[in-house]
Amino acid sequence: MGIPFNQPFLTGRETEYIRQAVASGKISGNGAFTQKCQRWLEGRFGFRKTLLTTSCTDALEMVAMLSGIGPGDEVIMPSFTFVSTALAFVRQGARIVFADSLPDHPNLDLGRVEELITPRTRALVVVHYAGMACDMDRAMELAQRHGLLVVEDAAQAIDATYKGRPLGGIGHLGCFSFHETKNIISGEGGALLINDERFVRRSEIIWEKGTNRAEFFRGEVNKYGWVDTGSSFLPSEIIAAFLFAQLEHLDAIQARRKSLWNTYAAELAGLAAEGRLLLPVIPPGASNNAHMFYVVCRSLDERTALIAHLKRRDILSVFHYLPLHRSPFYAPLHDGRELPHADRFADCLLRLPMYYDLTTEQAAEVSAEVRRFFA
Ligand SMILES: *Cc1c(COP(=O)(O)O)cnc(C)c1O
Repeated sequence: MGIPFNQPFLTGRETEYIRQAVASGKISGNGAFTQKCQRWLEGRFGFRKTLLTTSCTDALEMVAMLSGIGPGDEVIMPSFTFVSTALAFVRQGARIVFADSLPDHPNLDLGRVEELITPRTRALVVVHYAGMACDMDRAMELAQRHGLLVVEDAAQAIDATYKGRPLGGIGHLGCFSFHETKNIISGEGGALLINDERFVRRSEIIWEKGTNRAEFFRGEVNKYGWVDTGSSFLPSEIIAAFLFAQLEHLDAIQARRKSLWNTYAAELAGLAAEGRLLLPVIPPGASNNAHMFYVVCRSLDERTALIAHLKRRDILSVFHYLPLHRSPFYAPLHDGRELPHADRFADCLLRLPMYYDLTTEQAAEVSAEVRRFFA
C-alpha cells in the first residue's frame, strides 16, 4: 500500500456541526459558527480581530485593498512563495520587489531587505515558510524606520510562535489558510487577522461587499448601505461549521504532527551528519508547528532521482515553489537581480509525506527509503 503526500484529516465532528448549521436555517456567512471560529482564534492567539474568509488568497486580497496600495507603489516579499502572496498586490497595480531567501532557510533574508527599500516602498510581506517564523524583530524595526506596513502570510503558520508570540499576530495584518493541505482545514478557507486598530472597522466593510451590514446586525447603525469598496469574502456557515470541528481539535492535531516531524528528524539525522542532505533549520526565535518536513538535496538531479526512487516504492514526495521572479507572468517585470537561494530551494527542496493519519512506522519507512537512496 502506498503512502500519499497528504491526506486530509477529519476529526469526526465536522458532519455533526454542518448538520447543526443546516438545521439552524442560517447557512450564509457571518452566522453562529463563523462567530465561534473567530472568537476561538482571537481567544487562543490574541488577534485584535479575526474575519474568516473563503481562502488565504482572499484574505491577502483584503489586505491589499485595506492597505490602499496602488499603481506606483512597491511591495517587498520573498520570491520563494505561493503565487497568492504576490497576486493580491499585483491586482491593485503594485510593483513587486522580490527578495532572496536566507542561505539556510527558505524564509526571507531580512538582513538584506533594507537595500531594496525605496521611497515608493509601502509594504513588506513576510512568509513564514513551513510554519517557521521570519525574523519579526527585524521586520517590525524596518517597518517602523521606513513607515511600512508589515503583512504576515501565515498560511502555513497556525499555532506557531516567534519569541513566544503567535504568528499572524505580530505584523499589522496577517493571514491564515485552511486549505486541505494545511494543519487545520476546511477544504478551502482562510482568515484575515487584524492587529492594527486602524484597519478594524474598514476590514469588516470590505468583507461584506462594501456595506456596513455587520454594524447594522450588531445594532450599531439603524440602516445599512454601500459605504466603501469590497467584495464577498465571507465563507458560508457550512464551511465555518467544518472549521470549528478542526479548531477544537487543534492540540491533538499539532501533537501528532510534531511527533511525526521528530521521527523524521531523528531517522534522518545520520544522513545530515554525513553531509548527504540538509534537514530543516529552525530559525532563532521560531517554534516549529510541524506544518511540513522537508530535506534539501545537493542538486536538482539528485532530488529528481530521489523523488523517482521513492515513487518506485509508492511513496509520494513533492518539491515546492518555482520562484515567482522566474514565473512566466512576472519574469518580464522582474528587475533582473539574481536570487540564488530562492533558486536553490526551488531546485533542491523536497517535502516528505506529513499528515495526521501517517503512522510512526510509515514515517520511519519513508526515512529508511531515503537512507537506502543515499547508501
Ligand atoms: C497555501 C498558501 C497560500 C494560499 O492559501 P489558500 O487558502 O489556498 O488561498 C498562500 N500563501 C502561502 C505561503 C501558502 O502556503
